Amino acid sequence: MKDVVIVGGGIAGLAASWRLRHWDTVLLESGDRVGGRIRSERRGPYFMNWGGHVYAGGNSRTSWLLNDTGVDSVAVPGSLSGLAVNGKLLVKGRIESYPFRIPMSWSSRMGLMKTGAKVGLAVAKYAKIVGLRDGEDEASRQQRVYNFMNDRSFTDYVGELPEDVEALFKPTITRSSADLDEISAGAGVGYFSLVWNIGAGLSQSIVGGPSTLTESIAAALSDRVQLNSAVEEIVHKKNSVVVRYRQAGIEREVEARCVVLATPATVSHRVAVDLDADIRDALSQVKYGPYVSAAFLTNETERQVWDDSYAIATPKRSFNVMLNMSNVVRGYERERQPGSSIMTFSPASLARQLLELDDDGIRETYLRDLDQILPGFSDKVVEAEIQRWPTGAPYCFPGRAKLQPTLTRRGGRVFLAGDYLGTLYTETAIGTGLAAAQDAQSLLATDRQRGISAAELPMAVGR
Ligand SMILES: Cc1cc2nc3c(=O)[nH]c(=O)nc-3n(C[C@H](O)[C@H](O)[C@H](O)COP(=O)(O)OP(=O)(O)OC[C@H]3O[C@@H](n4cnc5c(N)ncnc54)[C@H](O)[C@@H]3O)c2cc1C
Repeated sequence: MKDVVIVGGGIAGLAASWRLRHWDTVLLESGDRVGGRIRSERRGPYFMNWGGHVYAGGNSRTSWLLNDTGVDSVAVPGSLSGLAVNGKLLVKGRIESYPFRIPMSWSSRMGLMKTGAKVGLAVAKYAKIVGLRDGEDEASRQQRVYNFMNDRSFTDYVGELPEDVEALFKPTITRSSADLDEISAGAGVGYFSLVWNIGAGLSQSIVGGPSTLTESIAAALSDRVQLNSAVEEIVHKKNSVVVRYRQAGIEREVEARCVVLATPATVSHRVAVDLDADIRDALSQVKYGPYVSAAFLTNETERQVWDDSYAIATPKRSFNVMLNMSNVVRGYERERQPGSSIMTFSPASLARQLLELDDDGIRETYLRDLDQILPGFSDKVVEAEIQRWPTGAPYCFPGRAKLQPTLTRRGGRVFLAGDYLGTLYTETAIGTGLAAAQDAQSLLATDRQRGISAAELPMAVGR
């Protein structure tokens, strides 16, 4: 009998396992590595990156986990507001000046300013509701964020836009994994708030690459992390939970006093068969959009136009944004070292189109666009790898707010965790993983006081 089985080795499950490391636990992960939607690999001074790249700083749960595990992060240096559109590359200057510097018709320019002013007012309202208020808990703050303009889509809110204006809005909003007509108006406004209040929110880079965090936790947990272990069913007993899983083709089961279930909502809905019917129903309603990403390693020896930028938005291309993963090295080095690490990122309908192609087709499409934005780019590439994320991220759709009280209601011995329980991605995943671990600890403490002993419960067995 285990104290806790943690299901899912993404950052939510790893955060929970880290907090529970003094109890008798096992983490079951279906894949052959931990990290889930966090994936990076080291190459010399750089890292190639395919998943989550910027992380919360300040007084966040992410900062707590980084400090507690001894993993460093630094503020992302360089500009986050580069833009390459209609043949022009802007890597310097204020965003407000862009409408006058981008080549486009006067009617588009007027449309951009008109819609920009409308969204600007909504961003100001959003800024007032998003912060934690005195004496308030995180759940109430999160509910308020979900409630904000949750009755309509972003398209319903801004109306039909001129082509250039829609193209300029898209990279910011579709980062969510949803298109403009899928995401709620409030969540769309939230994305502009993130971009216009640069430095707030997700702004830290993990030194050595994001997998430094996930692999460090897994190394510390050692054989308490079981890879290639796909959980198929989780069932409550009177004072325990049975977890059935498949490992190397063999069906196994393990019994525990409780479970932290840190898989995406789609999987949690399928495997947690005896959760309350309304919770399972709410899990089935969580929506995910797709991502495709690629990591490119280059070998140039000269300074490059992208050196001072972290993010360059790329409307009307096969990817939304190019991200300079070597920027962290650039920002802190004395002399420019050879090479760069560049990530391209395609969400929502861009991803849906790319997912139709094989990896070579995606690579060629990306390199064609990169060469048009940065002439000669593909000649410098020494390594290029594609990653498909069919369920890239959960997004906030009109009506999402009403699911939140059900999804976060506690009961039984299975505690849910994962990024789909909030709007801050890795910060939500870590926060909900730590909260689920806390619930598990208090349940274990109660069991001990009540004298529900291991003797009362049958041992874990392989089948
Ligand atoms: C390209 C990309 C860019 C992103 N950029 C950012 C960013 O810059 N900042 C940010 O904060 N977030 C970003 N995100 C989102 C972020 O990566 C996720 O929010 C976060 O990693 C989710 O963590 P999680 O633990 O909730 O889920 P996951 O990482 O999905 O972990 C779930 C785990 O469960 C495992 N699993 C699934 N089924 C089973 C089963 N049956 N049995 C056992 N295990 C199972 C999976 O293999 C996986 O390892 C990005 C995501 C992508 C894909």
